[in-house]
Amino acid sequence: MSIEPPAAVSTMTEQTTDLTHLTLNSTLADLPTYNFQVSPQVLGEMVARQLEEYPSLPGVIIIENNIVLGAFSRRKFLEQVGQHYGVAVYLKRPISVMLKAIAPNHLLLSSTCTIQEAAELALNRPLGWTYEPIVVEFPDQTYHLLDIYILLLAQSRLLALSHQQEQNRRQLTESLQKIGQRLSSSLDWQKVLKRILKEVDKLVTYERGAVLLQKGGHLEIVAQRGFGDKERTRALRILIQSTNADIFQRLVQTRRAVVIGDVTTEPSWQQVEWLPVDRSWMGIPLVNRDQVIGMLSLTRQDAHAFTAEDVDWVETFAGQAAVALENARLYNQVTQLNGQLEQKVEERTQELNHAYNILEKLDQTKSDFIKVSAHELRTPITVIKGYAQVLSANPLIQQDAKVEEMMSGIISGADRLHQVVNSILDVTKIASGSLTVYAENTLLGHLIAQICEQYGPDLQQRQLTLTTTNLDSLPPLNGDTELLKKVFQALIVNAIKYTPDEGSIRIDGQVVADNGATQLQIAIQDSGIGIDPDQQALIFEKFYQTGELALHSSGHTKFKGGGPGLGLAIAKGIVEAHDGHIWVESPGHDEERYPGSCFYVRLPLTV
Ligand code: ADP
Repeated sequence: MSIEPPAAVSTMTEQTTDLTHLTLNSTLADLPTYNFQVSPQVLGEMVARQLEEYPSLPGVIIIENNIVLGAFSRRKFLEQVGQHYGVAVYLKRPISVMLKAIAPNHLLLSSTCTIQEAAELALNRPLGWTYEPIVVEFPDQTYHLLDIYILLLAQSRLLALSHQQEQNRRQLTESLQKIGQRLSSSLDWQKVLKRILKEVDKLVTYERGAVLLQKGGHLEIVAQRGFGDKERTRALRILIQSTNADIFQRLVQTRRAVVIGDVTTEPSWQQVEWLPVDRSWMGIPLVNRDQVIGMLSLTRQDAHAFTAEDVDWVETFAGQAAVALENARLYNQVTQLNGQLEQKVEERTQELNHAYNILEKLDQTKSDFIKVSAHELRTPITVIKGYAQVLSANPLIQQDAKVEEMMSGIISGADRLHQVVNSILDVTKIASGSLTVYAENTLLGHLIAQICEQYGPDLQQRQLTLTTTNLDSLPPLNGDTELLKKVFQALIVNAIKYTPDEGSIRIDGQVVADNGATQLQIAIQDSGIGIDPDQQALIFEKFYQTGELALHSSGHTKFKGGGPGLGLAIAKGIVEAHDGHIWVESPGHDEERYPGSCFYVRLPLTV
């Protein structure tokens, strides 16, 4: 075999280990490699010289007819060639002789292989290969040597990069969260708009930023940063064209960010003539209740300045911005509604107050009229009663039984009239707060027993059973005997009046504790027609009657006899003037089953 000159030796450039240019997407093509290659015809001497001349050269690649036969390292070359053949031999023999002994295996990788993958393959090579140089094949069919150390350095740089990226991501996520909180911390629409631009600046650098909202067929700038002339900016209107090419229409359709790398090459770009041309543009839709209400617009001076990552962050941010805007809108709506409601309530209150004042005046006029009439009636009634009594004592009248009966009718009618007029006067006193209580030691049990006795004939006539319990043992009470008599008279008369014939009335007295105070309680239970729950408070109002007017009669204790509707109003006024309490309990009004009513009076033992 003749010895050929070293024709196939490529020039080798010194490699650096500067890996700062690497990104997470780098491949073997981005790594520094050696392009030292020899053909099998080349003398071992040639290789030895090269290895000597370039101390950092990790090895050599052996190529024949564009096929990599093998690669061997500096270490193996020196060790093994020296051992087996001696220096003299390797200087004279073609390298192919040595190839069999020292470079049977090699790792051949494509330059598009990722650094991570290459590192895994290199590290998992069978034992003995571990530090052999790696051969990288480039698309132009050239072969380069890659030092395993460089590969491992690159791998650790990428690990550091991805760690850094992860940390950045985490920081950004955290700041996005904080941004979201800050955005939602205000419910003022204008403030939220301003904050949107302030906060987005923390995520993405931009020269000019604006929030644009759709108003009819155009977009209006409602908040801006970096526009300079505020007045002119406020007056700006961006027309929304009805073609699909319109940028805002694209945002509406895709609901995703639209990025224009260079606005000078975008046909549908509407450049505002007084603004500088910023070449990169990003528009992010603001979606509110599933509707695109506007967009966030950001510009950068240089072309293609926004990265895919920028878009990701701003899209996430826009979601938060839309929520903050929606909250502010709802809050505005609620505040406006509240304002309207308050105004309405104010108006209604005024109307009601006005009506109330009129009613109060009318009521006062009515009360005055009733009071005056009652006073005016009292005098003639007293005259009628007096003369009737004088006349009935006359023997001439007494002689004629028929005339005598007529006289007693006149007297009892005048009595009843007198009572009614007195009741009206009582009510007017109560209403005007001029009722005076003359308190004395009163035995309520005794008083009630007297009233019961008084109505004995009426009870008998109506075949009603009246039972009393515990009345005798009641302690004396400090109260106005005359007034209290009116209370229980009214209650007992009502019990008789609203209980059908053969019914029963029970009066029970007891001492009870009420809110820490000792009270005397009288309960008057009847087996009468009962009272509907919704009427139970109303019956204590003056002139209130639930009975039919047609049934009114002069019969004081007739079943459902009716009256002027004053008894309970007077009773309530008197009880309250004693600091007491009066109320009724009844399952309801029923004239078939007669559920009955129970009236309670509670009076404090010390007034
Ligand atoms: P009146 O003069 O009409 O009896 P009151 O003030 O004494 O006026 O009573 C008011 C209304 O309360 C009565 O018209 C009647 O409808 C109802 N009422 C009072 N007591 C009873 C009762 N014990 N049972 C059923 N209804 C009663």
